Amino acid sequence: MSDRVRIVGAGLAGSEAAWQCALRGVEVELFEMRPQSSTPAHQTADFAELVCSNSLKSDSENTAPWLLKEEMRRAESRLLEIARECAVPAGHALAVDRVAFAAKVTQVISTNPRIAVRREEVSRVEEDGSQITIIATGPLTSEALTAEIARLSGHNRAQFVEQGTRVKFEATECLAQANAHLYFYDSISPIVEADSIDMSRVYMAARYDKGTADYINCPMSREEYDRFYDALIAAQSVEDHDWENLNYFESCLPIEEIARRGRDTLRFGPMKPVGLKAPDSGKTPYAVVQLRQENLRADSYNLVGFQNHLRFGEQARVLRMIPGLENARFLRYGQIHRNTYINGPALLNETLQMKLHPHVLFAGQICGVEGYVESIATGLMAGIHAATLARGEDPIAPPRSSAFGSLCHYVAHANPKNFQPANITFDLLPQLETKVRDRKERHRLQCGRALQEFDSWMDQVRSLAVRK
Ligand SMILES: Cc1cc2nc3c(=O)[nH]c(=O)nc-3n(C[C@H](O)[C@H](O)[C@H](O)COP(=O)(O)OP(=O)(O)OC[C@H]3O[C@@H](n4cnc5c(N)ncnc54)[C@H](O)[C@@H]3O)c2cc1C
Repeated sequence: MSDRVRIVGAGLAGSEAAWQCALRGVEVELFEMRPQSSTPAHQTADFAELVCSNSLKSDSENTAPWLLKEEMRRAESRLLEIARECAVPAGHALAVDRVAFAAKVTQVISTNPRIAVRREEVSRVEEDGSQITIIATGPLTSEALTAEIARLSGHNRAQFVEQGTRVKFEATECLAQANAHLYFYDSISPIVEADSIDMSRVYMAARYDKGTADYINCPMSREEYDRFYDALIAAQSVEDHDWENLNYFESCLPIEEIARRGRDTLRFGPMKPVGLKAPDSGKTPYAVVQLRQENLRADSYNLVGFQNHLRFGEQARVLRMIPGLENARFLRYGQIHRNTYINGPALLNETLQMKLHPHVLFAGQICGVEGYVESIATGLMAGIHAATLARGEDPIAPPRSSAFGSLCHYVAHANPKNFQPANITFDLLPQLETKVRDRKERHRLQCGRALQEFDSWMDQVRSLAVRK
């Protein structure tokens, strides 16, 4: 068996995986199909391009996203380190200048002497044990590789095409096990130019004054909200007939889809006003649209939670009804996109190795996690495990109590019948042995336990590497 690791996809997961292998003295071949062939969402040839929001979620101590990032820091995540170097103000969240971030990752990875970058699409994976491969091709994996993954999963392509109902997404359909949903769609949020926002109509604030007041808040009265709601509901979507039976990911619903569930659902979701009192009146508006800074120059802002799949012209018309955005110039409109992922519980074990082919590992969104940080984290973990395999040893899964362990446990042990990618949350972490009623205290204790056990695991992983 080759002791070189092949990594397919230089996105968030693949770049971190490559770094982790190189850190452990393992030679890497990193394949990236861009720029020769791109995806519907990527716009550059850079590695680790963030295709939508620029947020790497909460940095508040003892939250689940913080815990995962803290474990990643302890495991020497290079991408997290670069994210901190490229951070922009975002209250209690970690948000980055996405251009600077991707440029730095590309430079760091492509100049590493142990990493050989190959700019080509991969459509074939060796499963005979002669090669160690990490598949980290993300939610927009190329069609040829999607079909290859179906083959690796033990499925006959023809059989799946026959079962498939959507010819257009035939290759993705190949991944489906009978009745299991293994393809769905996410949507992305619009971005506006900062100097096109009417700052006299909006105010800066952080919800409940937590963190610095980095968000622009566009307040709405009841009348303004009603007018906006009616226009949104009536606005035309892209290719309406194609999207009728869409299988949306619940935590990333398009705003028009949320609105269709009831007149007030937006006010309890992305337009929630609580904790956002207007500084001049001291009153809480009827509804609020929040805008988050996009880059270090602060010359663009994204509409938080406003992913949608309305026609571009309709988006411009409806979103300009938001107070402060009457003359907004849009740098990007909301869009809909494909999201491909495998049925982790059916195919993977806790070390992200395929049950059928242990020398093939999956990382990132395609393995069944959701989000930038979770993708980097599983890339990090797959990199550690692949390096262990390259040394001829068996990978050891991270402790169940840790955030890493909980994510990998979810991927390997969730119900395969209705499997959906997951973000890191306390729901995935095991309960404490004794019941603690106070939520904050419970989370603090869960984080403390997680970090302690994660540190012991890291010591074990490091000592194995040194012993060799
Ligand atoms: C449009 C969109 C918006 C999203 N918005 C958010 C968001 O706002 N916040 C969030 O937390 N998460 C978001 N996600 C989910 C997810 O966090 C990101 O997709 C993240 O980039 C996943 O990381 P990854 O490493 O798994 O895949 P990617 O970062 O997509 O990297 C995969 C790489 O593999 C390459 N590739 C694909 N096929 C092949 C092949 N056959 N051969 C060689 N290379 C190949 C691709 O070009 C790409 O560079 C979004 C996803 C999409 C698609």
